Amino acid sequence: MTNPAQPLIDTPAIESSGAVNPVLTDVQLQRVARHGHCRPVREGEVLMHSGDQTTRIFVVITGQLTVTRTKDQLGAASGDSADDKEVIIVFGPGQFNGEVTILSGRRGFVEIVATKAGQVIELEREQLLDLVQTDSELSEIMMRAFILRRVELISHRFGDVVLVGSSHTSETLRIKEFLTRNSHPFTSIDLDAHPDVQDVLDRFHVTIADTPVVICRGESVLRNPSNQEIATCLGFNDAIDDSQVRDLLVIGAGPAGLAAAVYAASEGLDVLVIEPNSPGGQAGSTSKIENYLGFPTGISGQELAGRAYAQTQKFGAEILIAQGASKLLCDRMPYVVETDAGTRVSARAVVIATGAEYRRLPLENISRLDGFGVYYSATAVEAQLCRDSEVIIVGGGNSAGQAAVYLSQTADHVHVLVRSDSLAASMSRYLIRRIEETPNITLHTRTEIIGFEGKDHLERVQWRDNSTGKTDEKAISNVFVMTGATPNSGWLNGCIALDEHGFIKTGPALTVEDLRVARWPQGRAPYLLETSLPGVFATGDVRSGSVKRVASAVGDGSISVSFVHQVLAQQGAVAGRG
Ligand SMILES: Cc1cc2nc3c(=O)[nH]c(=O)nc-3n(C[C@H](O)[C@H](O)[C@H](O)COP(=O)(O)OP(=O)(O)OC[C@H]3O[C@@H](n4cnc5c(N)ncnc54)[C@H](O)[C@@H]3O)c2cc1C
Repeated sequence: MTNPAQPLIDTPAIESSGAVNPVLTDVQLQRVARHGHCRPVREGEVLMHSGDQTTRIFVVITGQLTVTRTKDQLGAASGDSADDKEVIIVFGPGQFNGEVTILSGRRGFVEIVATKAGQVIELEREQLLDLVQTDSELSEIMMRAFILRRVELISHRFGDVVLVGSSHTSETLRIKEFLTRNSHPFTSIDLDAHPDVQDVLDRFHVTIADTPVVICRGESVLRNPSNQEIATCLGFNDAIDDSQVRDLLVIGAGPAGLAAAVYAASEGLDVLVIEPNSPGGQAGSTSKIENYLGFPTGISGQELAGRAYAQTQKFGAEILIAQGASKLLCDRMPYVVETDAGTRVSARAVVIATGAEYRRLPLENISRLDGFGVYYSATAVEAQLCRDSEVIIVGGGNSAGQAAVYLSQTADHVHVLVRSDSLAASMSRYLIRRIEETPNITLHTRTEIIGFEGKDHLERVQWRDNSTGKTDEKAISNVFVMTGATPNSGWLNGCIALDEHGFIKTGPALTVEDLRVARWPQGRAPYLLETSLPGVFATGDVRSGSVKRVASAVGDGSISVSFVHQVLAQQGAVAGRG
C-alpha cells in the first residue's frame, strides 16, 4: 500500500494542463454528476491499484488525486514504498482521471490515490459511455483527453511491458507492431544496440535463443510469445463476456469491420468484433493514405485505425483481440463463431470483414526471408530498416506506388519492378506522376525477380528484364512485395458461396444456383452485401467484386448495418441498449 504520510507529489511526468488535463466548469461538473455518484475520499485512499481492470473514472470536485506508476517495471516485485512510485499526473478540482483503457475495460498499469481528502464523482464505464454518447461537449473534452494521455504515455514510454530483442528479427517486429497497433505503451531494448542487456536477461534466466522476450507487468517473462499470449498477459480481453448472445458479430477489425462496428454500436446494437492481430487491418500498416475523403494532406494508416478504434469503443462496441475466427457454425440460430483460441461467441447477425492476404513471390524458400529483408508493408518500422540503402518494390498497384514514394524519402534509391509494360492500368495517376517526378525512384517494366541470396537476412537480388532477357544482380537487402492479395475466407468451411478466387459472393452477385445450393430459405432475395446465408454479410476486400480501397471498405461496413437492422427486425430480436 502507498504510505499516506509520505508526500507523493514530485514533478508530474505529464503536463497537468490544457487539453491533456482539462478543468471542467461547475456547470459541466453538474452534468457529469447526473450520470455518476458523488462520494467522499480520504487522504491516502487508493482508488485504483495497478493491474486492476479499469471499470470507472473519478472526477474531482474537491481534494486531489495523484496517478503513479511503479518506477522499475523490469524488477519483479518492486515493493510498496512510495519511493518506488513515479508521479505521472495530478488532478485537482474540476479534473478527471482516465485514458483509453476505460473505453476497453482493460487492466490499467497505474495506481490512483487521493493525496488530499475531498469529494469525487465516481463514474462506472457504462455511465461514462452514456455520458459521452449523449453530451457532445463533454464527449469532445473527455475523448480528446483520453487519447492525448495515451499518446503522452506512449511517447514517455510508460507502460507495463518491456520488449527485449533484436530489431532485425521478424518476431521482434511482429511484437512491436502488435503492441504499437494496439496502442499499448512499451519500452524496447534492442539487443543489437545493447549487448550488455544480457544482465537483464540473466536476471530472468533467459538465454539469447529465447528472444524476443516480453516482460509483462514486471512479473511474467514470456519467451517469444504469440500475440495471443501477450493479449492474455495484459488482460486485453478480460472485460469481454463471451456467453452473451450479441446482436452483431463483426469478424475482422480493418476499415470495413471498424466502420460496421461504429455504425452498429452508435445505433444501439450490441456488437462484438473479433480480430486476430490489431485494429486497422491492411490500412493500419499503410504508411500514408492520401485518397481518403477529408484528409487533403493524407493520414497514416495507423492514425486512421487508432481514431476508428477509439470511436468503436466510445460507442460501446467490444473487441476481442488476438483471436481469429476459425469456424462459422452455420447450422444453428443464433450463429456461432469459434476462434482459434477455442472461444465460442454467438450472434443474431454477422458481418464478415476479414480482408485479404498478400501474395508471395513464386520463389523457393522466400518465406524464410519474410521479415528478414522481405516485407509486405512499408510503415515507419520498415522505413527505419532501409534508411540510406537501395530497396526494391515489386508490384504495380497503388500500395506499391505509395510505398515507393514513402520509402524514397529515407532510402538511397527505390527500384519499382513490374511485369507489365506500364503502370497505367494498375496505379492511380497521381502516384504514377509522383514516381516519375521523384529522382531516386526507377521504374523497371517487364521485369521480375528471379533469385534471392542470403542466409539469415536477404543480401542479394537477381532480376530479369523479360523484354531483353538480360539479368542483373545487386547487393540489395530489402525487398517489398506488393503484388495483390488472396481473401481470408478459408475459415468459412463451405457455409457460404464463394467466387472462383475465394472471395465472398453477396447480393446481386449470388446466382439462382448459388441460392439453391445454399438452400436460401427466405421469401425474399438477399440484401445488398448479404451472403448466401441469411443475416450474414460480407464487406470490404473479402467481398467478391469489391473495390480495394479504404473508403469503399468503410462504405461497405456502414451500409451493411442498415441491412443488419432489417434482419434483426425480422427476427424481432434487437437487444441493443437503445
Ligand atoms: C500497403 C497498402 C497500401 C494501401 N494504400 C491504400 C490507400 O492509400 N488508399 C486506399 O483507399 N486503399 C489502400 N489500400 C487498400 C486498403 O488498405 C484496403 O482496401 C482496406 O484496408 C480493406 O479493408 P478491409 O477491412 O476490407 O480489410 P483489411 O484491411 O484487410 O482488414 C481485415 C481484417 O480482418 C482480420 N482478419 C483476417 N482473418 C480473420 C479471421 N479469420 N478472423 C477475424 N479477423 C480476421 C485481419 O487481421 C484484418 O485486421 C492499401 C493496401 C495496402 C496493403
